[in-house]
This record gives sequence, C-alpha cells and structure tokens, in this order.
Amino acid sequence: MDNDIVVETRNLTKRYGDFIALDSMSIKLKRGRILGFIGPNGAGKTTCIRILVGLSKPSSGAAIIDGHDCTSDSKQIKKLVGYMPDTFGSYDNMRVHEYLDFFGAAFKIPRNIRGERIKHVMEVTLSSYMRDLYVESLSHGMKQRIGIARTLLHDPTVIILDEPANGLDPNARIELRQVLLRLAKMGKTLIVTSHILPELSRICDTVAIINKGKLRAFGTLDEVMLQVHQRRMVEIEVLEPAKMDTLIDLLKQHLEPDAEINPSRQEGQVRVSTDADNQQLSKVLSAAVNAGL
Ligand code: ATP
Repeated sequence: MDNDIVVETRNLTKRYGDFIALDSMSIKLKRGRILGFIGPNGAGKTTCIRILVGLSKPSSGAAIIDGHDCTSDSKQIKKLVGYMPDTFGSYDNMRVHEYLDFFGAAFKIPRNIRGERIKHVMEVTLSSYMRDLYVESLSHGMKQRIGIARTLLHDPTVIILDEPANGLDPNARIELRQVLLRLAKMGKTLIVTSHILPELSRICDTVAIINKGKLRAFGTLDEVMLQVHQRRMVEIEVLEPAKMDTLIDLLKQHLEPDAEINPSRQEGQVRVSTDADNQQLSKVLSAAVNAGL
C-alpha cells in the first residue's frame, strides 16, 4: 500500500440478509486529509464507520487503516483510530480535567504521563480554559471540543467524527474548523460525517457522497462540487426585521426563479436555498446594503 494512503476501502460491502447497506465502496484517503463523508439518513455511513473502527465485519471486501486490516487486526485498529459518536452522554459532577482523566485511565494511559497528555489535548482543541468547568455546564460547541480532546487521548492516526457540526452556531463552527484543520496539519487523517455537504465545505478537502449504500461521488472538494451540482443554503440575518420584505424582494429579483426563500420573522433571518455562485450572492448582498439593510 502507498505509504501516504492511511485509509483504504476495497469493494467494501455489508449485507443484512437480502438488504445491502454498503455496496462495494472503494476509497483511498491520504495522510493529513479531511474527508467529508456525506449522505442522508440510512445511507450507510454508520455501517462503514463501524467496519472501520473494528466493531462490525464486512460481508465482502476489505477496510485497511495504516496497513492494518480493520477486521482481522481490530486490536491494532483500536489504537490507530479515535472515534467521536454524535452523542456526548451525561457526566454529572465531573470537571473537564476529571472527565479526560477518567477516559485516559480507560485508555490505559499510565498515570505519570496522563496529566501531560490531557494538557496537550486540551491545548490542541483550544479547550485549556475549560479545565475546571463542570462538563454539564458546557455549551454544545464546548462539549464538542472536549469530545474531540477525548478521542485524541491515545494519539490516534485516524480520527472519525460523527456529525460534529450538527447544531453548532456559526462561532462554534469556526472554532471546530480551526481545531480540525490544526489536527490535519499535525498529520492526523480525519473522517467527518454529515447529512449535507455545505455544512462541511469549509472544513473538508476531500468528499465522499454515499446514498443507499453506494458511493455516488468521491474526490477533492472541487472535483465533487463539479460532479454534483449542489444547491447551497444561505442564511441572511436582518438587523431590522421590519425591513425583511425589502430583502425578500431583492432576493426574488436577483436569484433564479426556483430559489427557495424561507423567512423566519421571529429570528429575523431569511434562509435561502439557491444555485447562485459567490458572485451572484455578493450582488444580492451589495444591493441589500444599498437599500439600507
Ligand atoms: P444516519 O445518518 O441516520 O446515521 P447512516 O448513513 O449512518 O444514517 P446506517 O446506519 O449505516 O446509515 O444504515 C444503513 C442502512 O442499513 C439503513 O437502511 C439501516 O436501516 C440498515 N441497517 C443498519 N444496521 C442494521 C442492522 N443491524 N440490521 C439491519 N439493517 C441495518
């Protein structure tokens, strides 16, 4: 295997009876890359991830991480892979450093180096300031970063994150992006799942789109953007909600006729699903500014 390829699936297939949950999926992912693993509910993402982390056996085909077969070498795979599920769990009365210490002990990290390790993973995930806070008091975005810190404790080569961007506000999303880019720079290889590509388009450099168990597109972000003409979702916040109708008129004037324009007057936001490119969108925004919005 090419040394630079860290994750490879070869015709990976999983059947449940007659049902094919994963259908001959082949991908290769290089070190330091961030893969956006995109697909709707039931597409087969979890099925694939369970095989990659050694929790499930493929019906046929193979998954290989850093030269180790995910099925026959699952002990080594557990050392190589860090997995963050989409649920955090409940940890009452535990401060962040106690929480990380608890998992560090579970990963059998010797006590004499555990403190240093915890300090390091908190620095990498921009979480040092949370050290003495109670886990239950953290915001969703903060919990997400502590979750990532936890997956880093045993220094895995590959990090798999299930829906990390889901439900994050724009600031938390920017922080998540900073952390993930930093990990990729450190040489970690990341697989990040989502239902929609726009959520990850500023985070990932490689994309796999899966639907009904089949890989529909795979390549660099730019290649996949060309392969699938994906609509994007834009949110525009109006500082003076009374002027929202002016914005809606401008959007109707400038965007294609089947753009979906959904105002939420309570939140003072308009959500738009559109085919428009950056240039067209900036025209709408400058028209809005000219109209005093
Ligand atoms: P989500 O985003 O909802 O988590 P997903 O892409 O992770 O979706 P999977 O959980 O991999 O999808 O499921 C793929 C398909 O396989 C679904 O139709 C699911 O019902 C089916 N499936 C998953 N596990 C089993 C199982 N143990 N037995 C039978 N069918 C299963």
